[in-house]
Amino acid sequence: MKTILILGAGMGGIVTARELSKHSGNEEDINLVKILVFEKKESSLLSSSLPWVMVGQRKKSEITKPAKNIEASGLQVIRGDIESIDAKNISVSVKGQQYQGDYMVVSLGVEQADIYNLDQFGHNFFSLKGAENFYSELKSFEEGEIAILVSSLPFKSPAAPYEAAMLIEDFVRKNNLNNTNVSLFTPEAGPMEFAGAEASLELRKLLEKKGIKYYPHHELISASDNKLEFSNGKNYSYNLLAYTPKHQLPEVIRKSEMAGNSNWINVDNQTLESKFENVYAIGDITHLKTEVGTILPKIGVFAKQQGKVVAHNISRKIAHQEPNKTFVPEGKYFIESGEGKASESGGNFSAAEDSEIMMKDPGQWSHFSKWWDEKFWFFKNF
Ligand SMILES: Cc1cc2nc3c(=O)[nH]c(=O)nc-3n(C[C@H](O)[C@H](O)[C@H](O)COP(=O)(O)OP(=O)(O)OC[C@H]3O[C@@H](n4cnc5c(N)ncnc54)[C@H](O)[C@@H]3O)c2cc1C
Repeated sequence: MKTILILGAGMGGIVTARELSKHSGNEEDINLVKILVFEKKESSLLSSSLPWVMVGQRKKSEITKPAKNIEASGLQVIRGDIESIDAKNISVSVKGQQYQGDYMVVSLGVEQADIYNLDQFGHNFFSLKGAENFYSELKSFEEGEIAILVSSLPFKSPAAPYEAAMLIEDFVRKNNLNNTNVSLFTPEAGPMEFAGAEASLELRKLLEKKGIKYYPHHELISASDNKLEFSNGKNYSYNLLAYTPKHQLPEVIRKSEMAGNSNWINVDNQTLESKFENVYAIGDITHLKTEVGTILPKIGVFAKQQGKVVAHNISRKIAHQEPNKTFVPEGKYFIESGEGKASESGGNFSAAEDSEIMMKDPGQWSHFSKWWDEKFWFFKNF
Protein backbone atom coordinates (compact mmCIF):
# COMPACT_ATOMS: atom_id res chain seq x y z
CA MET A 1 0.00 0.00 0.00
CA LYS A 2 1.31 3.46 -0.93
CA THR A 3 1.72 6.09 1.78
CA ILE A 4 1.33 9.80 1.19
CA LEU A 5 2.74 12.25 3.72
CA ILE A 6 0.95 15.58 3.86
CA LEU A 7 2.74 18.27 5.84
CA GLY A 8 0.35 20.79 7.41
CA ALA A 9 -3.43 20.73 7.94
CA GLY A 10 -4.08 24.23 6.65
CA MET A 11 -6.00 25.08 3.52
CA GLY A 12 -3.73 23.34 1.02
CA GLY A 13 -3.04 20.27 3.14
CA ILE A 14 -6.68 19.65 4.00
CA VAL A 15 -7.84 19.86 0.38
CA THR A 16 -5.03 17.56 -0.78
CA ALA A 17 -5.74 14.98 1.93
CA ARG A 18 -9.52 14.96 1.53
CA GLU A 19 -9.32 14.77 -2.28
CA LEU A 20 -6.85 11.90 -2.08
CA SER A 21 -9.05 10.05 0.35
CA LYS A 22 -12.09 10.55 -1.88
CA HIS A 23 -10.46 9.52 -5.14
CA SER A 24 -8.06 6.80 -4.07
CA GLY A 25 -10.61 4.01 -3.89
CA ASN A 26 -10.52 4.08 -0.08
CA GLU A 27 -13.77 3.06 1.57
CA GLU A 28 -14.81 2.46 5.18
CA ASP A 29 -13.10 -0.93 5.45
CA ILE A 30 -10.95 -0.96 2.34
CA ASN A 31 -7.93 1.30 2.40
CA LEU A 32 -5.88 1.26 -0.76
CA VAL A 33 -3.70 4.20 0.23
CA LYS A 34 -2.55 5.54 3.55
CA ILE A 35 -2.71 9.31 3.95
CA LEU A 36 -0.87 10.77 6.94
CA VAL A 37 -1.43 14.46 7.69
CA PHE A 38 1.04 16.11 10.09
CA GLU A 39 -0.16 19.13 12.04
CA LYS A 40 1.36 20.89 15.05
CA LYS A 41 -1.82 22.65 16.19
CA GLU A 42 -4.82 21.03 17.78
CA SER A 43 -7.28 23.10 15.82
CA SER A 44 -7.35 24.31 12.30
CA LEU A 45 -8.06 28.04 11.77
CA LEU A 46 -9.80 29.59 8.78
CA SER A 47 -7.60 32.69 8.44
CA SER A 48 -9.79 34.41 5.86
CA SER A 49 -12.33 35.04 8.66
CA LEU A 50 -9.83 36.92 10.87
CA PRO A 51 -10.85 40.41 9.64
CA TRP A 52 -14.37 39.62 10.94
CA VAL A 53 -12.86 38.69 14.34
CA MET A 54 -11.19 42.13 14.46
CA VAL A 55 -14.58 43.85 14.47
CA GLY A 56 -16.43 41.37 16.68
CA GLN A 57 -18.33 39.61 13.89
CA ARG A 58 -16.79 36.18 14.54
CA LYS A 59 -15.71 34.19 17.59
CA LYS A 60 -13.00 31.56 17.85
CA SER A 61 -15.53 28.71 17.98
CA GLU A 62 -16.96 29.77 14.62
CA ILE A 63 -13.68 29.78 12.70
CA THR A 64 -11.69 26.91 14.21
CA LYS A 65 -12.33 23.18 14.29
CA PRO A 66 -10.27 20.27 15.68
CA ALA A 67 -7.74 19.18 13.05
CA LYS A 68 -8.63 15.55 13.88
CA ASN A 69 -12.09 16.13 12.40
CA ILE A 70 -10.71 15.98 8.85
CA GLU A 71 -10.00 12.27 9.27
CA ALA A 72 -11.70 10.05 6.70
CA SER A 73 -11.13 6.60 5.27
CA GLY A 74 -7.41 5.91 5.22
CA LEU A 75 -6.69 9.48 6.33
CA GLN A 76 -5.07 9.98 9.71
CA VAL A 77 -3.90 13.15 11.45
CA ILE A 78 -0.61 12.92 13.37
CA ARG A 79 -0.38 15.71 15.95
CA GLY A 80 3.00 17.25 16.61
CA ASP A 81 5.69 19.58 15.36
CA ILE A 82 7.55 18.23 12.34
CA GLU A 83 11.15 18.25 13.51
CA SER A 84 12.97 17.29 10.34
CA ILE A 85 12.26 16.50 6.70
CA ASP A 86 14.30 14.28 4.43
CA ALA A 87 12.92 15.06 0.98
CA LYS A 88 15.28 12.70 -0.86
CA ASN A 89 14.02 9.72 1.12
CA ILE A 90 10.48 11.07 1.57
CA SER A 91 10.41 10.93 5.32
CA VAL A 92 9.67 13.20 8.27
CA SER A 93 10.19 12.95 11.98
CA VAL A 94 7.68 13.99 14.63
CA LYS A 95 8.26 13.57 18.39
CA GLY A 96 11.33 11.52 17.57
CA GLN A 97 9.41 9.05 15.40
CA GLN A 98 10.24 8.59 11.72
CA TYR A 99 7.48 8.33 9.08
CA GLN A 100 8.27 7.06 5.61
CA GLY A 101 6.18 7.72 2.49
CA ASP A 102 6.06 7.19 -1.26
CA TYR A 103 4.81 10.71 -1.97
CA MET A 104 5.02 13.91 0.03
CA VAL A 105 3.07 17.18 -0.19
CA VAL A 106 4.49 20.14 1.76
CA SER A 107 1.86 22.68 2.73
CA LEU A 108 3.32 24.29 5.84
CA GLY A 109 2.38 27.87 4.97
CA VAL A 110 4.51 30.77 6.18
CA GLU A 111 6.24 31.22 9.53
CA GLN A 112 5.34 34.52 11.18
CA ALA A 113 8.05 36.56 12.90
CA ASP A 114 7.96 39.78 14.87
CA ILE A 115 10.00 42.81 13.81
CA TYR A 116 10.69 46.10 15.59
CA ASN A 117 9.02 44.59 18.72
CA LEU A 118 5.64 45.29 17.18
CA ASP A 119 4.02 42.67 19.39
CA GLN A 120 4.63 44.99 22.37
CA PHE A 121 2.79 47.88 20.76
CA GLY A 122 0.02 46.47 18.63
CA HIS A 123 -1.82 43.37 17.46
CA ASN A 124 -0.74 40.89 14.82
CA PHE A 125 -4.09 40.40 13.11
CA PHE A 126 -2.74 37.51 11.02
CA SER A 127 -3.13 35.41 14.17
CA LEU A 128 -6.31 34.56 16.06
CA LYS A 129 -4.98 35.95 19.33
CA GLY A 130 -3.97 39.23 17.66
CA ALA A 131 -7.33 39.66 15.94
CA GLU A 132 -9.18 38.92 19.22
CA ASN A 133 -7.01 41.32 21.23
CA PHE A 134 -7.47 44.04 18.64
CA TYR A 135 -11.25 43.72 19.02
CA SER A 136 -10.97 43.84 22.83
CA GLU A 137 -9.36 47.26 22.50
CA LEU A 138 -11.56 48.47 19.66
CA LYS A 139 -14.77 47.84 21.64
CA SER A 140 -13.74 50.32 24.30
CA PHE A 141 -11.99 52.74 21.96
CA GLU A 142 -13.35 56.28 22.23
CA GLU A 143 -11.41 58.40 19.78
CA GLY A 144 -8.02 58.76 18.14
CA GLU A 145 -5.83 57.27 15.42
CA ILE A 146 -6.24 53.65 14.34
CA ALA A 147 -3.33 52.39 12.24
CA ILE A 148 -3.18 49.31 10.03
CA LEU A 149 0.41 48.53 9.18
CA VAL A 150 1.99 46.22 6.62
CA SER A 151 5.26 45.68 8.43
CA SER A 152 7.16 43.99 5.59
CA LEU A 153 6.89 42.34 2.18
CA PRO A 154 5.88 39.80 0.99
CA PHE A 155 2.75 38.99 2.96
CA LYS A 156 -0.02 36.50 2.30
CA SER A 157 -3.50 37.57 1.31
CA PRO A 158 -2.48 40.99 -0.04
CA ALA A 159 -6.05 42.26 0.21
CA ALA A 160 -6.41 41.45 3.94
CA PRO A 161 -5.07 44.78 5.34
CA TYR A 162 -7.41 46.69 3.01
CA GLU A 163 -10.32 44.50 4.03
CA ALA A 164 -9.45 45.03 7.70
CA ALA A 165 -9.26 48.80 7.21
CA MET A 166 -12.70 48.93 5.57
CA LEU A 167 -14.34 46.77 8.24
CA ILE A 168 -12.80 48.91 10.98
CA GLU A 169 -13.97 52.10 9.26
CA ASP A 170 -17.47 50.58 9.16
CA PHE A 171 -17.26 49.83 12.89
CA VAL A 172 -16.02 53.35 13.68
CA ARG A 173 -18.89 54.95 11.74
CA LYS A 174 -21.61 52.67 13.13
CA ASN A 175 -20.43 53.26 16.69
CA ASN A 176 -20.19 57.03 16.23
CA LEU A 177 -16.53 57.16 17.18
CA ASN A 178 -16.07 60.79 16.32
CA ASN A 179 -12.59 62.26 15.98
CA THR A 180 -11.29 58.89 14.87
CA ASN A 181 -9.20 58.23 11.76
CA VAL A 182 -8.34 54.92 10.12
CA SER A 183 -4.98 54.90 8.29
CA LEU A 184 -3.18 52.21 6.35
CA PHE A 185 0.63 52.25 6.00
CA THR A 186 2.40 49.93 3.56
CA PRO A 187 5.70 49.62 1.66
CA GLU A 188 3.67 48.68 -1.46
CA ALA A 189 3.27 51.21 -4.28
CA GLY A 190 -0.47 50.48 -4.34
CA PRO A 191 -3.05 47.92 -3.21
CA MET A 192 -2.96 44.44 -4.76
CA GLU A 193 -0.20 45.35 -7.23
CA PHE A 194 -0.10 41.78 -8.58
CA ALA A 195 -3.65 42.25 -9.90
CA GLY A 196 -2.65 44.94 -12.37
CA ALA A 197 -3.20 48.68 -12.46
CA GLU A 198 -6.97 48.66 -12.96
CA ALA A 199 -7.95 46.50 -9.96
CA SER A 200 -5.39 48.30 -7.81
CA LEU A 201 -6.88 51.68 -8.69
CA GLU A 202 -10.42 50.44 -7.99
CA LEU A 203 -9.46 49.37 -4.49
CA ARG A 204 -7.63 52.63 -3.88
CA LYS A 205 -10.70 54.61 -4.93
CA LEU A 206 -12.83 52.57 -2.55
CA LEU A 207 -10.51 53.41 0.36
CA GLU A 208 -10.65 57.10 -0.50
CA LYS A 209 -14.43 57.04 -0.72
CA LYS A 210 -14.57 55.65 2.79
CA GLY A 211 -12.20 58.30 4.12
CA ILE A 212 -9.44 55.81 4.95
CA LYS A 213 -6.06 57.52 4.84
CA TYR A 214 -3.71 55.57 2.63
CA TYR A 215 0.09 55.78 2.88
CA PRO A 216 1.87 53.66 0.22
CA HIS A 217 5.71 53.62 -0.07
CA HIS A 218 5.95 53.58 3.74
CA GLU A 219 8.51 51.09 4.93
CA LEU A 220 8.73 50.73 8.70
CA ILE A 221 12.10 51.32 10.37
CA SER A 222 11.07 51.62 14.01
CA ALA A 223 8.08 51.50 16.33
CA SER A 224 7.27 52.68 19.84
CA ASP A 225 4.13 52.61 21.95
CA ASN A 226 2.62 55.59 20.14
CA LYS A 227 4.71 56.23 17.04
CA LEU A 228 5.67 54.56 13.76
CA GLU A 229 8.75 55.71 11.89
CA PHE A 230 9.32 55.07 8.19
CA SER A 231 12.34 54.97 5.88
CA ASN A 232 11.10 58.03 3.94
CA GLY A 233 11.72 60.15 7.03
CA LYS A 234 8.06 60.45 8.02
CA ASN A 235 6.56 59.40 11.32
CA TYR A 236 3.00 59.12 12.59
CA SER A 237 1.30 58.78 15.96
CA TYR A 238 -1.30 56.14 16.67
CA ASN A 239 -3.53 55.03 19.53
CA LEU A 240 -4.48 51.55 18.32
CA LEU A 241 -2.35 49.42 16.01
CA ALA A 242 -3.00 46.27 13.94
CA TYR A 243 -0.14 44.91 11.84
CA THR A 244 0.91 42.10 9.53
CA PRO A 245 3.95 40.15 10.79
CA LYS A 246 7.10 39.36 8.83
CA HIS A 247 6.59 36.23 6.70
CA GLN A 248 9.38 33.70 6.32
CA LEU A 249 10.07 30.12 5.31
CA PRO A 250 9.32 27.74 8.21
CA GLU A 251 12.45 26.75 10.11
CA VAL A 252 12.04 23.05 9.39
CA ILE A 253 12.25 23.81 5.65
CA ARG A 254 15.13 26.30 6.10
CA LYS A 255 17.22 23.53 7.58
CA SER A 256 16.17 20.97 4.95
CA GLU A 257 17.38 20.67 1.36
CA MET A 258 14.06 21.97 0.08
CA ALA A 259 14.71 25.69 0.57
CA GLY A 260 15.07 27.37 -2.81
CA ASN A 261 17.06 30.40 -3.92
CA SER A 262 13.83 32.45 -3.82
CA ASN A 263 13.70 32.07 0.00
CA TRP A 264 10.65 29.87 -0.51
CA ILE A 265 10.27 26.39 -2.02
CA ASN A 266 10.77 26.41 -5.78
CA VAL A 267 8.42 24.10 -7.67
CA ASP A 268 7.33 23.51 -11.23
CA ASN A 269 4.70 26.18 -12.01
CA GLN A 270 2.26 23.66 -13.41
CA THR A 271 2.81 20.36 -11.58
CA LEU A 272 3.95 21.81 -8.22
CA GLU A 273 6.60 19.10 -8.05
CA SER A 274 9.83 20.13 -6.30
CA LYS A 275 13.35 19.19 -7.36
CA PHE A 276 12.81 15.92 -5.49
CA GLU A 277 10.78 13.31 -7.37
CA ASN A 278 7.30 12.70 -5.93
CA VAL A 279 7.74 15.56 -3.47
CA TYR A 280 5.38 18.48 -4.04
CA ALA A 281 4.93 21.85 -2.37
CA ILE A 282 1.76 23.92 -2.51
CA GLY A 283 0.25 27.08 -1.08
CA ASP A 284 1.95 29.94 0.72
CA ILE A 285 5.28 28.14 1.06
CA THR A 286 5.90 28.22 -2.70
CA HIS A 287 7.25 30.90 -4.99
CA LEU A 288 5.41 30.88 -8.29
CA LYS A 289 5.86 33.28 -11.17
CA THR A 290 3.20 34.03 -13.76
CA GLU A 291 3.87 34.02 -17.49
CA VAL A 292 4.29 37.79 -17.35
CA GLY A 293 6.88 37.54 -14.59
CA THR A 294 4.83 38.70 -11.61
CA ILE A 295 4.92 36.68 -8.40
CA LEU A 296 1.64 34.95 -7.63
CA PRO A 297 0.02 36.16 -4.41
CA LYS A 298 -0.07 33.79 -1.46
CA ILE A 299 -3.81 33.18 -1.22
CA GLY A 300 -5.95 30.29 -0.07
CA VAL A 301 -7.78 30.12 -3.39
CA PHE A 302 -4.54 28.95 -5.02
CA ALA A 303 -3.51 26.68 -2.14
CA LYS A 304 -6.83 24.83 -2.56
CA GLN A 305 -6.57 24.59 -6.36
CA GLN A 306 -3.00 23.36 -6.13
CA GLY A 307 -4.07 20.76 -3.57
CA LYS A 308 -6.62 19.41 -6.03
CA VAL A 309 -4.10 19.24 -8.89
CA VAL A 310 -1.50 17.44 -6.78
CA ALA A 311 -4.03 15.00 -5.28
CA HIS A 312 -5.33 14.14 -8.74
CA ASN A 313 -1.86 13.57 -10.19
CA ILE A 314 -0.66 11.48 -7.24
CA SER A 315 -3.78 9.29 -7.56
CA ARG A 316 -2.95 8.79 -11.23
CA LYS A 317 0.65 7.93 -10.50
CA ILE A 318 -0.47 5.37 -7.93
CA ALA A 319 -2.76 3.85 -10.58
CA HIS A 320 0.20 3.74 -13.03
CA GLN A 321 -1.33 6.45 -15.20
CA GLU A 322 0.24 9.63 -16.51
CA PRO A 323 -0.45 12.73 -14.37
CA ASN A 324 -2.70 14.91 -16.53
CA LYS A 325 -3.70 18.00 -14.53
CA THR A 326 -1.83 21.27 -14.32
CA PHE A 327 -2.27 24.32 -12.13
CA VAL A 328 -3.75 27.38 -13.82
CA PRO A 329 -3.67 30.53 -11.65
CA GLU A 330 -7.25 31.51 -12.16
CA GLY A 331 -9.72 32.31 -9.45
CA LYS A 332 -11.67 34.85 -7.51
CA TYR A 333 -11.91 35.99 -3.95
CA PHE A 334 -13.97 38.41 -1.96
CA ILE A 335 -12.88 41.56 -0.13
CA GLU A 336 -15.21 42.70 2.62
CA SER A 337 -15.86 46.42 2.42
CA GLY A 338 -18.28 47.05 5.31
CA GLU A 339 -22.03 47.76 5.27
CA GLY A 340 -22.66 44.04 4.67
CA LYS A 341 -21.01 44.22 1.25
CA ALA A 342 -17.92 42.78 -0.42
CA SER A 343 -16.10 43.20 -3.72
CA GLU A 344 -15.36 40.27 -5.94
CA SER A 345 -11.90 40.30 -7.41
CA GLY A 346 -10.44 37.74 -9.75
CA GLY A 347 -9.61 36.47 -13.20
CA ASN A 348 -6.57 34.94 -14.81
CA PHE A 349 -3.53 35.93 -12.78
CA SER A 350 -1.09 34.83 -15.51
CA ALA A 351 -2.04 37.86 -17.54
CA ALA A 352 -2.24 40.43 -14.77
CA GLU A 353 -0.44 43.10 -16.76
CA ASP A 354 -3.18 43.01 -19.35
CA SER A 355 -5.70 43.97 -16.70
CA GLU A 356 -7.25 40.53 -16.68
CA ILE A 357 -8.02 40.87 -12.98
CA MET A 358 -11.24 42.70 -12.38
CA MET A 359 -12.56 44.17 -9.18
CA LYS A 360 -16.32 44.61 -9.03
CA ASP A 361 -18.17 47.26 -7.05
CA PRO A 362 -19.08 46.14 -3.53
CA GLY A 363 -22.35 44.23 -3.32
CA GLN A 364 -24.38 42.09 -0.94
CA TRP A 365 -24.08 39.02 -3.14
CA SER A 366 -20.28 38.93 -2.83
CA HIS A 367 -20.60 39.32 0.94
CA PHE A 368 -22.96 36.35 0.95
CA SER A 369 -20.48 34.38 -1.21
CA LYS A 370 -17.71 34.99 1.31
CA TRP A 371 -20.02 33.95 4.15
CA TRP A 372 -20.95 30.81 2.20
CA ASP A 373 -17.28 29.92 1.47
CA GLU A 374 -16.64 29.99 5.22
CA LYS A 375 -19.62 27.79 6.13
CA PHE A 376 -18.98 25.38 3.27
CA TRP A 377 -15.29 24.97 4.18
CA PHE A 378 -16.17 23.53 7.58
CA PHE A 379 -19.20 21.59 6.37
CA LYS A 380 -17.23 19.91 3.59
CA ASN A 381 -14.00 19.11 5.39
CA PHE A 382 -14.63 18.68 9.12
C1 LIG B 1 -6.10 37.77 7.73
C2 LIG B 1 -6.06 36.84 6.56
C3 LIG B 1 -7.08 36.90 5.62
C4 LIG B 1 -7.05 36.06 4.50
N1 LIG B 1 -8.06 36.13 3.58
C5 LIG B 1 -8.04 35.33 2.48
C6 LIG B 1 -9.09 35.37 1.53
O1 LIG B 1 -10.07 36.12 1.68
N2 LIG B 1 -9.02 34.56 0.44
C7 LIG B 1 -7.95 33.72 0.27
O2 LIG B 1 -7.93 33.00 -0.74
N3 LIG B 1 -6.93 33.65 1.16
C8 LIG B 1 -6.96 34.42 2.26
N4 LIG B 1 -5.94 34.34 3.19
C9 LIG B 1 -4.76 33.52 2.89
C10 LIG B 1 -4.97 32.04 3.21
O3 LIG B 1 -5.35 31.88 4.55
C11 LIG B 1 -3.66 31.30 2.94
O4 LIG B 1 -3.21 31.60 1.65
C12 LIG B 1 -3.86 29.79 3.06
O5 LIG B 1 -4.21 29.45 4.38
C13 LIG B 1 -2.58 29.05 2.64
O6 LIG B 1 -2.73 27.67 2.84
P1 LIG B 1 -1.45 26.78 3.18
O7 LIG B 1 -1.93 25.38 3.23
O8 LIG B 1 -0.33 27.12 2.27
O9 LIG B 1 -0.97 27.28 4.61
P2 LIG B 1 -1.77 27.33 5.98
O10 LIG B 1 -3.23 27.37 5.76
O11 LIG B 1 -1.16 28.44 6.75
O12 LIG B 1 -1.44 25.94 6.69
C14 LIG B 1 -0.16 25.59 7.17
C15 LIG B 1 -0.35 24.56 8.28
O13 LIG B 1 0.91 23.96 8.58
C16 LIG B 1 1.04 23.83 9.99
N5 LIG B 1 2.47 23.77 10.33
C17 LIG B 1 3.42 24.72 10.10
N6 LIG B 1 4.62 24.30 10.52
C18 LIG B 1 4.45 23.05 11.04
C19 LIG B 1 5.32 22.09 11.61
N7 LIG B 1 6.65 22.29 11.77
N8 LIG B 1 4.79 20.90 12.01
C20 LIG B 1 3.45 20.62 11.86
N9 LIG B 1 2.59 21.52 11.33
C21 LIG B 1 3.07 22.71 10.91
C22 LIG B 1 0.35 25.07 10.53
O14 LIG B 1 -0.04 24.93 11.88
C23 LIG B 1 -0.85 25.19 9.58
O15 LIG B 1 -1.99 24.52 10.04
C24 LIG B 1 -5.97 35.13 4.35
C25 LIG B 1 -4.97 35.06 5.33
C26 LIG B 1 -5.01 35.90 6.41
C27 LIG B 1 -3.92 35.79 7.48
